[in-house]
Amino acid sequence: MGGSVRQQQDGRSQTPRGLRTSPTGRVPQWVLDEAVGGRQPSAAWRAWTPAEPPALPARKQRPWAGIGTAVVVVAVLSAAWFLGLLPGVATTDADRTAPSPGVEASDGRLGTPLTPPAAGGTFAFAQLQDDGVTPVAYDPCRPVHYVVRPDNAPYGGEQLITDAVAQMSAVTGLRFIVDGATDEAPDEQRQPFQPDRYGDRWAPVLVTWDTVTEQPDFAADVAGQAGSLAVSVGDGPGVYVTGAVELDAAQFTDILSRPGGQAVARAIVLHEFAHLVGLDHVDDPTQLMYPTTSDVLDFAAGDLAGLSRLGAGACEPSL
Ligand SMILES: [Zn+2]
Repeated sequence: MGGSVRQQQDGRSQTPRGLRTSPTGRVPQWVLDEAVGGRQPSAAWRAWTPAEPPALPARKQRPWAGIGTAVVVVAVLSAAWFLGLLPGVATTDADRTAPSPGVEASDGRLGTPLTPPAAGGTFAFAQLQDDGVTPVAYDPCRPVHYVVRPDNAPYGGEQLITDAVAQMSAVTGLRFIVDGATDEAPDEQRQPFQPDRYGDRWAPVLVTWDTVTEQPDFAADVAGQAGSLAVSVGDGPGVYVTGAVELDAAQFTDILSRPGGQAVARAIVLHEFAHLVGLDHVDDPTQLMYPTTSDVLDFAAGDLAGLSRLGAGACEPSL
């Protein structure tokens, strides 16, 4: 095939997107979600009151991300990358922009996606292949590695991540492997191939608890953001190779300190990990992928159907 590798950033709609390239070679901003207009006052999260006792007036929707309920979500800072070299063809390590192809690739899928509820439901993918139907997904024939930067983590934060990953694995069939702690900081210009830090492979998914200094969006109501980076060889399909999950350290500390906050925190982490593997928001308040929080604190039928599809991607050992 051609001599270039193209990478694409998370998209946000069901509109088919070509694998755009950037002639500048600049690595654009990561991630993706919740960067929207129409923010409510930053007190919204802090003004949140748990659903119990039930006598309290019910607040139907609370922002995941500082979005008013009437505001159309514009998620995702999307941009494209360009890598000038096919993986592995560079003559020196210093020139390489991608790892050797097929690291850890198996002949078959490592797990089986959960059969979604028959009833179906609403879901949307962050990115579609050129056919306009097939979602961009992680390669199910190799594990999805992730690292966690423990700095700023709220009490119980590590367990929240572990539990969310376990649930994502159960639903999608994707196999996740935690590589432990990292001191890598979140970075909108994050490089997907960092051989000095992570060796000859795609950099693992980076999970961080951000300060508002690191992630200014978290100064508002945004509680988290996440997404993945897709790469393709030539005209081949896009495949996610790494990603980032950023969680608002201060808001999670606050949420977890409240009665009922554990379930809300868990729901937000699940929502973000669903973004990571390729789900987009839906305009359906009965789904966890609705962009503002609600009484829905776990994956609903549509979420599960979408995640099942995302676990059934094609294996791409050429990457
Ligand atoms: Zn979201």
